[in-house]
Amino acid sequence: VAKRLAGKTVLITGASSGIGRSTAFEFARTAAPAGGLKLVLTARRVDTLKQIAADIQAEVGDGVKVLPVQLDVSKPDEVRGFVEKLPEEFKEIDVLVNNAGLVKGVAKAPEISEEDVDIMFSTNVTGLINMTQAILPIFLRRSNGGSGDIINIGSIAGREPYAGGSIYCATKAAVRSFTDSLRKELIASRVRVLEIDPGQVETEFSVVRFYGDKAKADAVYAGVDPLTPDDIAEVVVFVAGRRENVVVADTLIFPNHQA
Ligand code: NDP
Repeated sequence: VAKRLAGKTVLITGASSGIGRSTAFEFARTAAPAGGLKLVLTARRVDTLKQIAADIQAEVGDGVKVLPVQLDVSKPDEVRGFVEKLPEEFKEIDVLVNNAGLVKGVAKAPEISEEDVDIMFSTNVTGLINMTQAILPIFLRRSNGGSGDIINIGSIAGREPYAGGSIYCATKAAVRSFTDSLRKELIASRVRVLEIDPGQVETEFSVVRFYGDKAKADAVYAGVDPLTPDDIAEVVVFVAGRRENVVVADTLIFPNHQA
């Protein structure tokens, strides 16, 4: 796998915490023996990204190059000019991990504020679509109709809706639908369009869901044994590290208790 990743450029959205952060480390650790990997780490909290980049670099050395870049995927203007502003050596992206996402609130649909509906859709859905549209031209310029990987982080919530999560579930169902359509549109290319749908993973996700209320967030995981972000990161790197002809299109991964 290290050899397959050698020379590739991987862009991860939402790399400042949780699954995105772990995925950055996992790519770096896996690719380090062969070297040549470039990582573009994006999120809104750029200082956190800088620290993560330094930590990765300290762990794996210079064989992996890491570039932290501030990017809010929900802002079309930021996404539009994003690739052009990258330093030349990071522009030729091979793998896009569309991971940035969030849920705000647990409440019945009429009680979810317009603002929260907007932030969930503009991040989880429009943000993911904007990123895909920004990066796809790079993939499609390549020979044989194009190549590259788009790895979308959906959710079990996109398959099994639950009361109190109507908006979030709808965003993740939209991700699923977009991913499946895009895979069909790109069938003549060598571009792989892949989705990974996690169940319960302990990250900052629930802190965000409860507007920063750590006690409420911790209560979600009390008495259960959630996945760790590393569990998901391993799968992301696994699907990206398959032979070019192998498409691990759709992965559902959840903790045993959640079955
Ligand atoms: P975290 O809250 O730990 O991480 C979310 C990441 O998304 C952060 O790095 C955050 O960075 C980033 N982000 C949020 N909004 C934006 C934005 N507008 N632009 C750019 N980056 C943004 O949660 P997880 O790691 O758990 O979540 C990652 C993905 O996994 C999400 O898509 C989530 O829906 C999905 N998921 C999570 C599950 C779980 O149980 N944890 C279960 C199923 C799916 P910053 O704030 O710095 O911008």
